[in-house]
Amino acid sequence: MFTMVSGLQNYSEQAIQAARYIGQGFMVTLDHMNRLPMTIQYPYEKLIPSERFRGRIHFEFDKCIACEVCVRVCPINLPVVDWELKKDIKKKQLKSYSIDFGICIFCGNCVEYCPTNCLSMTEEYELSIYDRHDLNYDQIALGRLPISVIEDSTIKTISNLSYLSKGNIKGHSNSRNVTKFFC
Ligand code: SF4
Ligand code: SF4
Repeated sequence: MFTMVSGLQNYSEQAIQAARYIGQGFMVTLDHMNRLPMTIQYPYEKLIPSERFRGRIHFEFDKCIACEVCVRVCPINLPVVDWELKKDIKKKQLKSYSIDFGICIFCGNCVEYCPTNCLSMTEEYELSIYDRHDLNYDQIALGRLPISVIEDSTIKTISNLSYLSKGNIKGHSNSRNVTKFFC
């Protein structure tokens, strides 16, 4: 008789414990139902990069004076500036310019110190390719304006994730979507 009562008592305690665990799990589910999503359906949805996002560098060939400041301030001397001296006008003439984004650490030093502001960080982050050598951008590839996430009608832009709604990150507001570090 005592064994049966004890067994019933154990059983009821375990049932109460199980009900408590189910209740706790249910409360966690309810709690998460009130939260904003933390993930997006990339690539159909994309986050709007922050204003100071350091993406692929944009380069304006006509503005470059081949001073090589960008090379000197780069921690890995990465930009390749090819120029020739025009003796008649006593000036350097830029022949080609390239940056290898397979090596670049996107520190932004070159952008910050360029005296003619011909370099700028863009919001472009989709740089994946099959051959890493294709990441070596010449002046033509560097001069291409970035594809704006906001202007792409096929992509749903997301800016209301919970951490974004706190105002930590704001999207680009200019139509050209080229962000200068120092302006
Ligand atoms: S610092 Fe600017 S102007 Fe000078 S070489 Fe580099 S990109 Fe050209
Ligand atoms: S962003 Fe930094 S690492 Fe990349 S080229 Fe400019 S200075 Fe060099």
